[in-house]
Amino acid sequence: VAVLVDPVNRLANFVRLWQEGYSGFVRAMELLDVAPDIVDRPGARDLGSPRGAIRFERVSFRYGPDGPPVLSALSLSIAPGEFVALVGPSGVGKSTLAALIPRFYEATSGRVLIDDVDVRDVTLASLRRAVGVVQQDVYLFAGSVAENLRYGRPEASDAEVIAAAKAAHAHDFILGLPQGYDSDIGQRGVKLSGGQKQRLTIARAFVKDPAILIFDEATSALDTASERAVQQALLALTRGRTTLVIAHRLSTVRHADRILVLTEDGIVEEGTHDALMARDGVYAGLHRVQGRI
Ligand code: ADP
Ligand code: MG
Repeated sequence: VAVLVDPVNRLANFVRLWQEGYSGFVRAMELLDVAPDIVDRPGARDLGSPRGAIRFERVSFRYGPDGPPVLSALSLSIAPGEFVALVGPSGVGKSTLAALIPRFYEATSGRVLIDDVDVRDVTLASLRRAVGVVQQDVYLFAGSVAENLRYGRPEASDAEVIAAAKAAHAHDFILGLPQGYDSDIGQRGVKLSGGQKQRLTIARAFVKDPAILIFDEATSALDTASERAVQQALLALTRGRTTLVIAHRLSTVRHADRILVLTEDGIVEEGTHDALMARDGVYAGLHRVQGRI
């Protein structure tokens, strides 16, 4: 009987997971497998544990052969452990630039290097282990809080998951949920605020503990208390790793070691917040016109 029942149960389970998690599943496929033609090269090696230097050498990019150029001969260099904020008008290619680092897409020409190694010369598995991506659209799966936090490193211990949640300022609100870390979240689960969801994705990045972190900050407004908690969590997460944040909040860019201003003309300004405000150029203009960056 068990032989017969088991597959049926598994199928029912699969259907349930499919229904509950379908949108999350599709989203994950979009994020993780955007270009199925990107595969390991023959002889690709393991990136290991990089120090986290990032370099773009005259990188150009277009989506498809007929698409308009998104990036043109762009060069930049980020030191290991540096915290860099990337700002600029919508549609200029900030998310695209960031996506080239974990090789979700490949440069049309030029090179992207981590610790002087071309990202196309290492295995995708070792690259994606070294580069953590926290997306703008927070996505959580149907499943428990703990399962969601283990997403980037399933073998993480309970103690590691709890330490990550504490570092992300999420532990206290998780304990306040009906079943704590076992509480179901996702479409049919407990309702979380935008700030709580962001802190869960930050906690998830702590569990994964990558050498390089890419954070595509949410554009939607958070209430002041949430914003402060998210900000503290993000700052804690930047410590000891290279961080590139596509920033939409003044509180984020003020803390960055360096701000890069990307426009359709490429990187047109860089420096600290104070230096760029004093310069009174594009960055200062973004503040004046939009009231945000
Ligand atoms: P930003 O993050 O600065 O707002 P993006 O990197 O998202 O800019 O987009 C840069 C340009 O590339 C935009 O014109 C956008 O429409 C286009 N683009 C983004 N993603 C894709 C895609 N998957 N296919 C085709 N074009 C895209
Ligand atoms: Mg973007």
